[in-house]
Amino acid sequence: MHGRETVSVSNQAATPEVELSAVGEAMYRFITQLYPICRSLTGDGVRATLKLIQEQIPLTIREIPSGTPVFDWTVPPEWNIRDAYIKNMRGERVVDFRQCNLHVVSYSTPVRKRVSLEELKAHVFTLPEHPEWIPYRTSYYHRDWGFCLSHRQLLGLQDQEYEVCIDASLEDGHLTYGEYYLQGAQTDEVLISCHVCHPSLCNDNLSGIALVTFLATYVSFLSRRYSYRFLFIPGAIGSIAWLCLNESRLSAIKHGFVVAGVGDAGRFTYKKTRRGDAEIDRAVAHVLKHSGHDYAVMDFSPYGYDERQFCSPGFNLPMGCVMRTPHGQYPEYHTSADNLSFVHPHSLADSLAKCISTVSILENNKKYMNQNPKCEPHLGKRGLYQKIGGQTDKRIKELALLWVLNFSDGSHTLLDIADKSQLEFHAIKMAADALLKYGLLKESRE
Ligand code: ZN
Repeated sequence: MHGRETVSVSNQAATPEVELSAVGEAMYRFITQLYPICRSLTGDGVRATLKLIQEQIPLTIREIPSGTPVFDWTVPPEWNIRDAYIKNMRGERVVDFRQCNLHVVSYSTPVRKRVSLEELKAHVFTLPEHPEWIPYRTSYYHRDWGFCLSHRQLLGLQDQEYEVCIDASLEDGHLTYGEYYLQGAQTDEVLISCHVCHPSLCNDNLSGIALVTFLATYVSFLSRRYSYRFLFIPGAIGSIAWLCLNESRLSAIKHGFVVAGVGDAGRFTYKKTRRGDAEIDRAVAHVLKHSGHDYAVMDFSPYGYDERQFCSPGFNLPMGCVMRTPHGQYPEYHTSADNLSFVHPHSLADSLAKCISTVSILENNKKYMNQNPKCEPHLGKRGLYQKIGGQTDKRIKELALLWVLNFSDGSHTLLDIADKSQLEFHAIKMAADALLKYGLLKESRE
């Protein structure tokens, strides 16, 4: 996706157009801005992140007190960190949180003491197979402290006493998340969610945050059929808490997806809903099939990101997951190598374009009734063959008119017709618009 390629949600003049290369650069700049912040499940890093998102979209920031029971879980204490280091006998910081926030195991209990090298090693994590990389580790529900080092740093530690300090607090506070709701013509909702709980990791969490922020901006300019809800939540506990507190409103959710890891150079991957045949599954599959790019579609599995919670059997919401290379299938995953050079503006823009195309299908996937069902109407007489565009794809446009007319019997949606005809949804939608204009079609509202 380079140059002045654009994507538009429909052929109506009033709908916005996105210039992909520019938007990819803007998404990348946003990731650069968010990258230094030390995020975790809770705490000021999440708040600072949501504040930056709030500069782009009018996000509502919500706080749930620590200790709040949410289904089988409890909202944890709030964790905040100011500084951390390992100092050698000369007082030099041999490991410094200020250099890289991955150095501290997330949710480490505060510690300040002198330890032997042996004792220190029991609290240190490294990646011997990638000696320059720092791993990302958490200890949310097991009270402990720890440091993450490059293996090269560990090998450089001499047998002496070290001063370890983690200047952190773990006390009653809140779990913070962001929510942005856009009212549509219907109360039926599309739910789009991403996680905001990882520190300086670009593909895993920041790419999703950037995509959802830019998609929300885009959707805010649309004339909407559906209402949209965008969630920026800490992984697992955030979606569990949100589902628990919003259980009475979940029946409004008709479609949705989780966004995670959408900036790497790999191909686009879609993980289906637990239902496997939801409209969102068919919409994304259609976009990918007609994209001209390599892609993968995976069945649902009960591990991964927050789709695990949204698709738990008690809810079974029609929520898929969009990503590029699946988590854990690239060596940079959960390491310091998931950095600003691991994500690419063109991958971000391409992922956004595919999500926009999916939204376009959801918005326009309606059923119609042919108003002249006894034999074909005389399209040439009405100038319809000429009215819908240039000569090069004239044949496709004619075919689209015939497919739409024949299958607009009140039981086929435009996506059904697009899939049957092997034509792109956009061509089918344009044909339906032309036929509507000439009174040959009427929307069917059963
Ligand atoms: Zn992760």
